[in-house]
Amino acid sequence: MKRKNGDELVSPNESSPGLLDLHSFDTELLPEMSVPSLYEVPTMNNVSRGRSFDDSDPYFGINKLTSKARGLPDTNVLKSITADNVKASNVAKIKVVVRKRPLNKRELAKNDEDIIETSSNCLVVHETKLKVDLTEYQEKHEFVFDAVLNEEVSNDEVYRETVEPIIPIIFQRTKATCFAYGQTGSGKTYTMKPLPLRAVRDILRLIHHTYRNQGFQLFFSFFEIYGGKLFDLLSDRKKLCMREDGKQQVCIVGLQEYRVVDVETVKELIERGNATRSTGTTGANEESSRSHAILQLSVKRSVDGSESKPARLVGKLSFIDLAGSERGADTTDNDKQTRMEGAEINKSLLALKECIRALDNDQGHIPFRGSKLTEVLRDSFVGNSRTVMISCISPNSGSCEHTLNTLRYADRVKSLSRGNTKKD
Ligand code: ADP
Ligand code: MG
Repeated sequence: MKRKNGDELVSPNESSPGLLDLHSFDTELLPEMSVPSLYEVPTMNNVSRGRSFDDSDPYFGINKLTSKARGLPDTNVLKSITADNVKASNVAKIKVVVRKRPLNKRELAKNDEDIIETSSNCLVVHETKLKVDLTEYQEKHEFVFDAVLNEEVSNDEVYRETVEPIIPIIFQRTKATCFAYGQTGSGKTYTMKPLPLRAVRDILRLIHHTYRNQGFQLFFSFFEIYGGKLFDLLSDRKKLCMREDGKQQVCIVGLQEYRVVDVETVKELIERGNATRSTGTTGANEESSRSHAILQLSVKRSVDGSESKPARLVGKLSFIDLAGSERGADTTDNDKQTRMEGAEINKSLLALKECIRALDNDQGHIPFRGSKLTEVLRDSFVGNSRTVMISCISPNSGSCEHTLNTLRYADRVKSLSRGNTKKD
């Protein structure tokens, strides 16, 4: 099967008329994390060895009453895969979610106030302002998003709200992207880190059970864009270059792609990539706040369903931990390097918004050439694509300005997805 943009894609339906074998999914009762190695039939033995969740594990967050803890299989994913929601048309093209983190110890010690009020999908920022006579008054800024996740929401719930609905449609030739946007320290990495692991768990479940023996394979790559250049986070930050092939497909020359068959390996790869990411000269947070980290999960399939033939791309899921949004304002910094990086970040965040705008309007022309980030994501902005933006915000009064900037950016992306043509 060929698409008009030249991308060669294979549909799972080509050899299997029933898209998702719901019956076999229902009867495969697997607890969390007990994904068997490739094509291995789950037995009571490997089911009981399933990894248990740890409250303190940042990958899995608060998960006190997991089905696993009650000795039952986890059925969240099983429940979510129904005949209704596997249809790509049922998954919103663009979803904008806000996540508020709790006040941290430093903010609490300073008696910093929580200025963010949340209720279902609404959010109010209470900004303290000064009158000319220097008396204080409060200005309220109200926002509505597809979902507002407050400080009590666990990483598990974030996954369910954002990425889980997309998983089945990755097998239906969809390229989906999940971004974390926000100022440094607002929780982007905390939010993004566990998502790919959960996605891998669910994708492997589909490959091993629903699409068993159909030649689907999962591949993993992890790289970063720093100062407009690409570095492989799984090959000691080897510098990479991007090319377009004859079909205008993005090709990152030299990028390591790992075939994955279990969740544990992916966890190690993510740890390795994140460690590589933070070994800059200026210290962990400094460095990573100026780079975009891109983790990609590609589902491929051998043309005839056999494992021995080279696999072709079916769908892709990209997770992007964006540079700190405040870094785009570093354009007046004294240091030339910082200034240039700031300009690049500013360019990429603006280009990203423009690309999402074009995506939503089904515009023929996608302005992906605006920045390295959008060039790299080019193939995710054409054809059958889905975007989830998670805007991370800090709750404290000291972050008010950055929080409002983040929410306004998210609001622009959201109103684009409602067909609002209002200009910036
Ligand atoms: P960013 O990547 O946006 O710079 P981080 O993800 O590094 O921010 O988060 C900053 C700090 O706040 C980290 O110590 C992180 O563990 C903590 N944190 C962020 N979000 C949450 C949350 N929702 N719940 C608890 N701690 C959080
Ligand atoms: Mg970070």
